[in-house]
Amino acid sequence: MDLYSEITALKGVGEKTQKLLARLGIFTIENLLEYYPKNYDVYEAPVFPEEIQEGKAAAIICTVMTPPSVNHKTRVPAVTLKTRGPGRMLYMTWYNMPYLKNSIKSGETYIFRGTPVNKRGSLTVEQPEIFTPEEYKEKLNSMQPVYPLTEGVSNKLLIRLIGQALDGVDLSREFLPDPVRRKYKLAEYNFALRQIHFPKDWEQMLTARRRLVFDEFFVFALAIQSMKEQTRQVKNHYPMAPASFCDDLIAGLPYQLTGAQMRTWKEIQADMASENVMNRLIQGDVGSGKTVIAALALLQAAQNGFQGCIMAPTEVLARQHYESFVQLFEPFHVRVTLLTGSMTAREKRTAYEKIAAHETDIIVGTHALIQEKAVYDRLALVVTDEQHRFGVRQREFLSGKGETPHVLVMSATPIPRTLAIILYGDLDISVIDELPARRLPVKNCVVGTSYRKSAYRFIEQQVRQGHQVYVICPMVEESEMMEAENVVDYTARLKEALPSDICIEYLHGKQKPKEKNEIMERFGAGQIQVLVSTTVVEVGVNVPNATVMMIEDAQRFGLAQLHQLRGRVGRGDAQSYCIFVNTSDKKSAQERLEVLVKSNDGFFIAGEDLKLRGPGDLFGLKQSGIMEFKIGDIFNDMDLLKEATQTAKALIEKDEQLKLPQHKALRDKLDRYMRTGGDSLVL
Ligand code: ADP
Ligand code: MG
Repeated sequence: MDLYSEITALKGVGEKTQKLLARLGIFTIENLLEYYPKNYDVYEAPVFPEEIQEGKAAAIICTVMTPPSVNHKTRVPAVTLKTRGPGRMLYMTWYNMPYLKNSIKSGETYIFRGTPVNKRGSLTVEQPEIFTPEEYKEKLNSMQPVYPLTEGVSNKLLIRLIGQALDGVDLSREFLPDPVRRKYKLAEYNFALRQIHFPKDWEQMLTARRRLVFDEFFVFALAIQSMKEQTRQVKNHYPMAPASFCDDLIAGLPYQLTGAQMRTWKEIQADMASENVMNRLIQGDVGSGKTVIAALALLQAAQNGFQGCIMAPTEVLARQHYESFVQLFEPFHVRVTLLTGSMTAREKRTAYEKIAAHETDIIVGTHALIQEKAVYDRLALVVTDEQHRFGVRQREFLSGKGETPHVLVMSATPIPRTLAIILYGDLDISVIDELPARRLPVKNCVVGTSYRKSAYRFIEQQVRQGHQVYVICPMVEESEMMEAENVVDYTARLKEALPSDICIEYLHGKQKPKEKNEIMERFGAGQIQVLVSTTVVEVGVNVPNATVMMIEDAQRFGLAQLHQLRGRVGRGDAQSYCIFVNTSDKKSAQERLEVLVKSNDGFFIAGEDLKLRGPGDLFGLKQSGIMEFKIGDIFNDMDLLKEATQTAKALIEKDEQLKLPQHKALRDKLDRYMRTGGDSLVL
């Protein structure tokens, strides 16, 4: 077994586990070892019951007073027992674990680890972990890794497999060049991998982490650099003359393009007419009007006799673009074709045929499909929307089809320009830093749960005025299934709270694409008034008639993500509102959310988010969807990111193909990354 063996090389990993692990992006031993903990659990010194506080997690040492009793009348069987220790009596309860009845003995002393809560007047710890004093001694003060999980993969399983891999694999081979490791005083790979999973203490973990963050950024930067080398001087095989259609389209819009949109459009036109092929990023906050720019570029390609395609990260978004482009291009007889996963095999075949025969000009779809089987005829322009959803490899893949097409990448990721230059080092950048003029800023409020009733009344009012509403349900970590149930439950309750003539529907990740499309279509057409949803609506959805966004458990989302969600309203002429429901009583949660009330500017919010999280907060909120590296944090680890980027640049300048013998291991690492890692990196 070595680093590159398949995961089935481990004892106890059969086909079933292999499939489950694949869902976490783990295929090889290397993938497994680079599946890092999201946090650590520190087994603290046990305390007596008199020292515990309600709501505060603790390891409690006490003696069991009564034999455990099982209550079968509750929804799931509950095992309950009474314990005693100096000062206080406590209850322990476990749900759905009836077998515990026989393994816990009355009169014995145990350590119960969990959070005491007040249940009908008595302090109860629900679902505590159970240890004998001897067992606990071994764990005391150790840092146990806590991994992100998926259904069927437990933390215990990951700990066991990673332990096994660390013992069984030779990790002494370094892929970082020695001078680099010395210059930045980085720990050995071997040490880093062991300590990140099972750290001796906090300090060792940080040392390990620093090395691994550097690795991740370094390989990423190498990938970017080598892509840049490849695309830099590529000849423009599809030079495009300015197209009259585009001027007509602009003249026919119900609004005027903003100055920033106009400037961006000119930059794109210049690129597409120039000597070299275009590789451009359009960065613009949500609602800044990126779609129409993409439409212009595609239209120009079509009038010049070429094909163009636009890839969206979700099916819902692809359909939305399709419909708006059909409408926009109709006067010019420019043909648009849709290509998504929920289409029947036959529909897909027809689409492929049309593409190959050049019976269509513009192809709109989800990225996998556009890449897979499509054979284009003079594909001159590839647009990707919400680029942070696409990996490095996909970008390269498309550029590699036929003569290199122009590439336009659109992103709402609110990052400072200096960072953008590093992260998108291979692209030229246009910034749309101006919102359409007539737009009324969204009005925001952060409220507690007691406001829910008033919020529902407000929603009703807005619906009566002909508007539409989104309600975002709290996310349920680790289980999409539970998340789905949650949305269904919430919808039922909301239906009771609102008059029955208001049409309320829900949307979640477990629904079939067809179902989702239908709901989104009906919502878009105004047939559904209130849409209860998980964050699947987060990216790009455009229903300008929606004026209210209500977000439950808002404190559990990252600020940047909340900003994206808020971006779903405020897209039309009417005043829009965003209601953040804060269900936590922590002061810090309230403060964080207040940032959103203060500003509607994504760049400002990203900056404030960083300040509030503070550089020490390595395992803070998941910044869902925004620049996710496995372990590196582009904000907190910005210095390392810069160092890694500089190092990568210098190295590529010296040894462009990484052909020198001392760079062999690095070359292999980069190849593996380009082959697979670039996909799991959600940029
Ligand atoms: P995003 O940049 O988030 O992708 P969209 O392209 O979806 O934003 O545009 C949001 C909304 O603003 C759309 O309804 C679009 O028609 C409208 N829009 C775009 N540009 C302008 C403009 N210059 N003036 C007024 N409305 C605009
Ligand atoms: Mg968009």
